[in-house]
Amino acid sequence: MSTVNLALAGNPNSGKTTFFNLLTGARQHVGNYPGITVERKEGHLSWNNGQVRVLDLPGCYSLTSYSPEEVVARNALLKERPQAVVQVVDANTLERSLFLTVQFLELGIPVVLALNMMDEARRKGLRIDSAKLSALLGLPVVETVAREGQGKEALVAQAVAHAREKLGRTEPLALSYGKDLDPILTDMAAIVERNAFLIGRYPARWIALKYLEGDAEVMREGEKSDSQAAKALEAKVAEARKLCRDFLKSYPEAVIADFRYGYINSILQQGVVSQDARRQRIEISERLDQVLTHRLLGPGIMLAVLYAVFYATFSIGEIPMGWLEALFGYLGETAENLIPEGLFRSLVVSGVIDGVGGVLGFVPLIVVMFFALTLLEDSGYMARVAYMLDRVLRVFGLHGCSVMPFLVSGGLPGGCAVPGIMATRTLRNPKEKLATLLTAPFMTCGAKVPVFILLAAAFFPGLEARVMFLSTLGAWAMALLASRLLRSTLLKGESTPFVMELPPYRMPTLRGLVIHTWERTWQYIKKAGTVILAISILIWAAMTFPGLPQEQAAGFEALRLAAQQEGSAQAELDDRLTGIDNQEAQAALRHSVAGRIGVFLEPISRWAGFDWRTNISLVGGFAAKEVIVSALGTAYSLGDVDPEESETLSQRLAGDRAWSFATALSLIVFVLLYAPCFVTVVAMARESSWGWALFSVGFSTALAFFMAVAVYQVSSALA
Ligand code: GDP
Ligand code: MG
Repeated sequence: MSTVNLALAGNPNSGKTTFFNLLTGARQHVGNYPGITVERKEGHLSWNNGQVRVLDLPGCYSLTSYSPEEVVARNALLKERPQAVVQVVDANTLERSLFLTVQFLELGIPVVLALNMMDEARRKGLRIDSAKLSALLGLPVVETVAREGQGKEALVAQAVAHAREKLGRTEPLALSYGKDLDPILTDMAAIVERNAFLIGRYPARWIALKYLEGDAEVMREGEKSDSQAAKALEAKVAEARKLCRDFLKSYPEAVIADFRYGYINSILQQGVVSQDARRQRIEISERLDQVLTHRLLGPGIMLAVLYAVFYATFSIGEIPMGWLEALFGYLGETAENLIPEGLFRSLVVSGVIDGVGGVLGFVPLIVVMFFALTLLEDSGYMARVAYMLDRVLRVFGLHGCSVMPFLVSGGLPGGCAVPGIMATRTLRNPKEKLATLLTAPFMTCGAKVPVFILLAAAFFPGLEARVMFLSTLGAWAMALLASRLLRSTLLKGESTPFVMELPPYRMPTLRGLVIHTWERTWQYIKKAGTVILAISILIWAAMTFPGLPQEQAAGFEALRLAAQQEGSAQAELDDRLTGIDNQEAQAALRHSVAGRIGVFLEPISRWAGFDWRTNISLVGGFAAKEVIVSALGTAYSLGDVDPEESETLSQRLAGDRAWSFATALSLIVFVLLYAPCFVTVVAMARESSWGWALFSVGFSTALAFFMAVAVYQVSSALA
């Protein structure tokens, strides 16, 4: 069998050399930049017992002599007469690549297309119907991934078959170049044929085209071979130039290029190329981002979206939270009825049910919050939020991704630090994550709100909203400053550049949302059953043991008996009994470990204006900040105080000699900043380590105390 001659052609960087090496086993230099192949290279391979010779042409975009590569490629084609050209095409730039194909076809050279880089095209979501392309162009098309050797066999088979069938010649493609140029082209082709001008080397119409394109190389050859005919052609070219200038405001070479691209597009638009959803998504994303990350509109939309997430979390979460509260209330009541009075009942009701119930009570909130967060993340919007806020947070040693933990923790009053801590997971840099984790609990979480309302009502009547607003501002300022402090000292280190690639927006799937939300929620629930249960029991014990000494308890019992024997009206009796119960509770509290801690701390806490009773409520507040109000109630002999109906307690505080305007201010500052509640601490330990969680307790309490003392001393001096 005779040798088959093939030439490899293609645009620079289409993978031509990779193919050449793949086919011939050569080791030519492959590089991801144009212009590598300049000199002529030839290789051989065996195919079905026959020999195939492969000529590597320089990479080029056209066959007009605009660059040395193009001239070399064209001359090689004429001199070597390959039986077919294998054009390596980068499938991602099909339109531009076919510009070269069309010129091979106009030259009457059989072409086989290797549709290369299909891996990239597929990744980008580009769909190419190669069978249709093959049918419309009338030549074989083989999809390949040269770098991985995919499609090699099929390509060689098709190329060899095509070469054997065509033997280097096809009917030249006769494109129409429009009603202005077509007649001139026909005339020129006639002149070429009549004079046998350069014939035998090129098709007549092709020579005419080269003249119109002003191809210097062809014109020089023409001048040499038949100056008479060349003159006639040049006259026609001048005519065409004038026509193009007058009617089209253009040049012949531009008109020719336009018509070639027109032809290519007419082919591609017949369903050869389509973008799948992903490509469309990228385009839609870009358009969305013009609005959503707009310099002015972007931040406004962001605030609205974040507020909506926040609002949804707490307004939707509130409903099932109420059900859970009711459920645990019912459980507590049932236990109270089933278990005889005593320590065990107290342990089950106050330690286990209240403790775990308080923790599980957050579950609805966490579900809704994680659902909303997952929605923002999966849709791709979260990345934009972080991107927009990064520049501000960077100043404080934080990262764009720190914003969600802050917001969720109560950046807008009413959040919760537990899900906030969990939201720090999106931070990759451990130091930035720690700085966020340690300062997020400063935010005004929902449990701090009733404390502030209580104190505002007592000492700043009518100014509750302003107190809330200022404490929120204060929380942000302290969080940012503390983080700056930590990042310049303990957590010193490079900040991570914001290199997050903004992913395309996509519609999150319900399945994905449900799975992600559930995974995060389940981790939280598991915790409630283990560590949190244990700590909850510990705190219960601290407020219960040691119980009142026998004789003191007996004293209260005697008081109760005396009251009952007086035989006054039922309502009055109930009041007196409640009063005695409260007194006993207060005495028991003072006697307990927590109470002793409160008394023990009093000499120090006096600096900030807190007496032992406030101390107990603050110690209790470590269990959950909600406890502060109820513990203050107990300590001030008012029994269980519902935060919403704290009027009496606030009046009581306002009237108490130990309390002043300065005390209230100091307490607000302290509650805002001191140790996060233990559920948060557990969450912190999970996200970082127990070391850092405990550091947080110490660090925030120290900072809170320092600030509270400063506030108390200054404001009592001013008062
Ligand atoms: P040439 O300029 O046409 O000779 O192209 P090269 O053979 O030098 O290849 C250009 C770059 O494209 C190199 O980095 C190749 O590794 C890479 N390349 C070649 N074929 C493929 C392919 O099918 N898929 C991908 N993803 N890359 C390819
Ligand atoms: Mg190359």
